[in-house]
Amino acid sequence: MVNSALNDINDYLESKQDDALAFLEEIVNIDSFTYDKEGVNRVGEVIRRQLDAANIPYEVRKNEDFGDHIIATVKGKKEGKILLMGHQDTPHPQGTTKNRPFQIEGNLLRGPGVSDMKSGLVSMIHAAVAVREFAQDELCDIEILFTPEEEIGSPISRAVIEERAKDALAVFNLEAARPDGSVVTARKGSAHLKIEIEGKAAHSGAFIEDGISANDELALKMNKIKQLMDLEAGVTINFGKIEGGISNNVVSPHATATIHIGFWRREDFEGLYSQIQWIVDTSFVPGTKSTLSGGIGILPMEKHEGVTKLYETVQYAAKGLALPITEQRTKGAADAGFTASLGIPTICGMGAVGGKWHAVDEYMELDTFLPRMKLLANSIVIVAQDTLKE
Ligand SMILES: [Zn+2]
Repeated sequence: MVNSALNDINDYLESKQDDALAFLEEIVNIDSFTYDKEGVNRVGEVIRRQLDAANIPYEVRKNEDFGDHIIATVKGKKEGKILLMGHQDTPHPQGTTKNRPFQIEGNLLRGPGVSDMKSGLVSMIHAAVAVREFAQDELCDIEILFTPEEEIGSPISRAVIEERAKDALAVFNLEAARPDGSVVTARKGSAHLKIEIEGKAAHSGAFIEDGISANDELALKMNKIKQLMDLEAGVTINFGKIEGGISNNVVSPHATATIHIGFWRREDFEGLYSQIQWIVDTSFVPGTKSTLSGGIGILPMEKHEGVTKLYETVQYAAKGLALPITEQRTKGAADAGFTASLGIPTICGMGAVGGKWHAVDEYMELDTFLPRMKLLANSIVIVAQDTLKE
């Protein structure tokens, strides 16, 4: 039963390959820079047309400063839902497609956002339709979320993603598969902190004893904080910008430093943060007063048990397609971090294979488009069946 449904799904996707490519060409040729709300919504219009044609109902949520959210639902017969996510924006400014339109160079597709991640948007819709046609009785709901501003860290989408993901059985994020074909099972998180130190000014030639140097305090704190960096554990600490003092013959009355921290596990950051807090609260130069502000910007995608299990399912689906698949952890952050942090089984990089994202030589490998679409559709069916059995 399962196998015949999967075969039907795969045949169907194969028969729709030309439509998928035409859909991709159309949206790649629309500039959709994150800050170009109209451009992002033009991509949204094409998506809505495709959803209408496929008879998939959707909700549009208008946004003031960015393009709209589109939330489409393919109804299943069973309880629960699987969430598919993709972003409509790109980091390429208006006018990019004029000089660099969609192109096919042998096996490589070119054009701004072709791999990051307009092909993923096409895959989500095609996979959902195929699954509905041939496995609806076995399925829970499939929800497809299209967001408008991932490239700047999803400031307004984070809440929408968390709302839609919180009761999902699984989440597939349709960022591109890595250049070696891997899907992504872990991503780093990042935090931005700021230290502010107050001291007391005094003439450094005549009355240095009367001053309290915020600069000296900052130097001591920086030295201690930097020692907490642990490259082996992937915990990085960078002092991005430091400022302090008034002029050369004045004991510095204030100093500031900003810190960027990268980490794989939230727990690592929390441990580090309390150590930094202790260093900031301690005055090494007596009389200085310091404060610490800031916190986590993007949550890491941690490879917890749910992620591991979902990856096993994807591997199982890949085996059925005779598609070798590997996993990778990557340093870049993405929306998958928000859903994985809620404890929801999440896999990122479910799109077609590509690379050189955000660069002029961005590419997508054409011959991976269909296999990865099949992988997504088959994974959805297997996840739904597995979960519903339990
Ligand atoms: Zn992306």
